[in-house]
Amino acid sequence: ADPRVSARRATARRIGVFGGTFDPIHLAHLRCAEEAREQLGLERVLFIPAADPPHKTQRRVTPARHRVAMVRLAVAGHPAFAVSPIECERRGRSFTVDTLRALRARLPDAALTLLIGLDAFRDIGAWREYRSIFGLADLAVWTRAAGRLSRPRAILPVAARGDFCYASGTSELLHHTGTRIRFLTVTALDISATDIRQRSRRGRSIRYLVPASVERYVTNAGLYRRSRAAS
Ligand code: ATP
Repeated sequence: ADPRVSARRATARRIGVFGGTFDPIHLAHLRCAEEAREQLGLERVLFIPAADPPHKTQRRVTPARHRVAMVRLAVAGHPAFAVSPIECERRGRSFTVDTLRALRARLPDAALTLLIGLDAFRDIGAWREYRSIFGLADLAVWTRAAGRLSRPRAILPVAARGDFCYASGTSELLHHTGTRIRFLTVTALDISATDIRQRSRRGRSIRYLVPASVERYVTNAGLYRRSRAAS
């Protein structure tokens, strides 16, 4: 490990980077971010809604301006939570590797931790330049039972396993650049945006699955209604 990386980590501002489609943002997103903030001692968590995907994906994603507006409403009032429209401002598809490079350029004094659920992490081998991602930020992977992950290295894409070793005495994975992957146990909340969109489309309640402000926004903007075929 590079001693400069360790030295920087000790003094740097710790910032969590939480990307998602957030269509819509829901209480499981918020609660996981809050528990990660607490467990990792993060000064700030940046929620980063993904840009509109190119056409011809499996479903039509709600336009970014609505998703960003809902995330803004959801995090309003939390002093450590903020929204970054960085991916929505960039042209074309958003790739996490580009986002991390841009954030490192904008926030040179920060120690970035990419926050991600285990389900999303299992797909990381399909992400653009994923092996570079591991060197650009720490990762915190949350699951409902981190303690039961007996061999977390086995979750890594095969090609990247050699880049990591176990940090002694912990389940953390240490990257050769000095960054690390931690596994966090968080409260299990079985909420998904897909389910929320389906409920909305059927005219059913989404109360207590999303913040009240987001529920009002969905209603007022007419999102996820059958007639719009938004989902
Ligand atoms: P969709 O149902 O549309 O696929 P989603 O609810 O899974 O959406 P995303 O925006 O795709 O939400 O997720 C962003 C991040 O939040 C991912 O890292 C994912 O693992 C995490 N996440 C989503 N739902 C949960 C949940 N219920 N508990 C823990 N983490 C979650």
